[in-house]
Amino acid sequence: MTYQTTTRLLKVNPEAPEPALIAQAAQVLRHGGLVAFPTETVYGLGANALDENAVSRIFAAKERPASDPLIVHVSSTGELSQVAMEIPPLAWQLINRFWPGPLTLVLKRGLLVPPNVTAGAPTVAVRMPRHPVALALLSAADMPVAAPSANLFSRPSPTTAAHVLEDLNGRVDIVLDGGPTTVGVESTVLDLTQTPPCVLRPGGVSLEALRRLIPDVAFRAKYAAENEQVAAPGMLLKHYSPRAQLVLLNGEREAVLRAMQAQARAEQEAGRRVGFLLVDEDLPLLGQQEGIVESLGAVADAEAVARRLFAALRSLDARGVDVIFARALPRDGLGLAVWDRLMRAAEGRIVDVE
Ligand code: AMP
Ligand code: MG
Repeated sequence: MTYQTTTRLLKVNPEAPEPALIAQAAQVLRHGGLVAFPTETVYGLGANALDENAVSRIFAAKERPASDPLIVHVSSTGELSQVAMEIPPLAWQLINRFWPGPLTLVLKRGLLVPPNVTAGAPTVAVRMPRHPVALALLSAADMPVAAPSANLFSRPSPTTAAHVLEDLNGRVDIVLDGGPTTVGVESTVLDLTQTPPCVLRPGGVSLEALRRLIPDVAFRAKYAAENEQVAAPGMLLKHYSPRAQLVLLNGEREAVLRAMQAQARAEQEAGRRVGFLLVDEDLPLLGQQEGIVESLGAVADAEAVARRLFAALRSLDARGVDVIFARALPRDGLGLAVWDRLMRAAEGRIVDVE
């Protein structure tokens, strides 16, 4: 059963959010409602993390399976101690270095957290976002807020308020519009309940940055097809998907672009509408190829590529393409998170080009 409501869109100043608007949104959270708000990564769909009913509305609004746990957002270390317990010294080091910011820590679940937040797991994922609107909302509400990305389940994550409305209009009480998000991919999820600590999802804090503090950090993003046993919660292979089929081509750049052109021509001859997801440097090499092209920016600027990724996928969808050809980009820094999202958008359809 989906929760039906009238959605109010409130435009807020992203650097200095107006206290009266934040107070309205905080009030909705305190009464068990849903508020979508910008974080530095993507827009979140928030509810009181300590209220089981409010949390269940998140799952209904997103049509998210109950097996996929939520991240709890806090604005103070006091709130962290409400939602997690037995917090190890390494967590405090990471918090000093990366919070507020796009790093989510998986810790032992505190007794106050209702089981639907963590999909029944004895662990809880927590982060402190650094977006001024998110921090203002969390402290005005004065409670930990469970907030997954504010999109329908398996759609690309929202990086603008317009994306949130596209998916959730009539399903959320308030959308705080603080403009486009700056990081553009979700937080890095680091499990501190395993030894050595393990990255479950690459994201806004790079593996290289984590290695400086945890030299033996493991990276084991597990991917499971929809019908398989989910190895790690929330790691379904089909995720972040555009409606169009996405084909990810991997290999040396010129060979990839040649293969892409040949495959695109075949698709077009079969009457399908083709889109390309590329970087600026690729555009001249694509030549006279017909099709709808989205560029993510300069390949060397991984931050810009990450920032534009989800908007570009939504834009290709909006223009009605049937198939999207994307080129796999270098996987260092934020590139690893971009690769992970594209791989999942492609549902594992990766073509290695010789
Ligand atoms: P989202 O908030 O939509 O970006 O998704 C949250 C993701 O965080 C989930 O899909 C999981 O991958 C991860 N996560 C949340 N809670 C846990 C947990 N207790 N253990 C492991 N991973 C978690
Ligand atoms: Mg999500």
